[in-house]
Amino acid sequence: MSEHEFVPPGVDPTQMSHARAYDYVLGGKDNYAVDREAAAQVIQLAPDLPVLGKAQRRFLLRVTQMCAKAGIDQFLDIGSGIPTAPNVHETVRAINPKAGVVYVDYDPLVTVHNGALLADGDRVISIQADVRDPQALMSHPELTELIDFDRPVLILFVGLFHLVADEHDPAGVIAQYRDRMAPGSHLMLSQFCTDGSDEAAKAKLEEISVNSPSPMCFRHKDEIARFFDGFELVEPGVVDVQDWWPDEPAPRTKLKVAAGVGKKL
Ligand code: SAM
Repeated sequence: MSEHEFVPPGVDPTQMSHARAYDYVLGGKDNYAVDREAAAQVIQLAPDLPVLGKAQRRFLLRVTQMCAKAGIDQFLDIGSGIPTAPNVHETVRAINPKAGVVYVDYDPLVTVHNGALLADGDRVISIQADVRDPQALMSHPELTELIDFDRPVLILFVGLFHLVADEHDPAGVIAQYRDRMAPGSHLMLSQFCTDGSDEAAKAKLEEISVNSPSPMCFRHKDEIARFFDGFELVEPGVVDVQDWWPDEPAPRTKLKVAAGVGKKL
């Protein structure tokens, strides 16, 4: 995508967007120069950032498959990002063709791309909403047509909560989702982690996002584990994303993402 192309309403091509920068890191084309320049500054210090992004996507696919095989048939992917293949609906529908999937992101460009991709989709929708307003998000009229919180659901917070600063009370936000989730529901969460991350690359990531609407917020593993209060943590607990039920050997990376899965009892 270049600056000379159509810019959808609400999209500012001069302001770095996390969704678009992440799309660039994953090898996508839905990004602007400002996003590529920001990502390139981090990649200069942590050249394996794309490897880490792909490891996080693999974690997402492993857990969605695990939950679909266990019988969960509703999936709420919050902070879903610009569509990348395979996506959640493709993965779970290979197991259960009737599974319902709701993609949520606050970035208008995500809704534009998802809207085009899912135009013919049945029981797969994309809505624009902010994770930090759980009550508005969970009562969104299109969402409530597909997601029944009285039945088990998988909520995905993948690569999202490092964009929710402490002043927004991330643990309190997560607790509001937890309180609506039926027993048997699962929560998966991953975010940038302080423990083991290269200091210079971490500082660069924080610096490039400091003036964005959602500055980057690294956290220690024990802080991330507390996000699972009220859930039973699935083994092996909160670990480097490459180590959560690895399905293939994954290289270590300069920056670290910690990941975990919790079950509501
Ligand atoms: N979950 C996807 C994945 O793992 O491939 C994308 C992760 S991307 C790093 C983070 C996404 O979270 C971006 O698309 C960004 O727009 C979205 N996001 C950030 N803050 C958000 C908020 N407060 N509410 C909803 N989405 C948000």
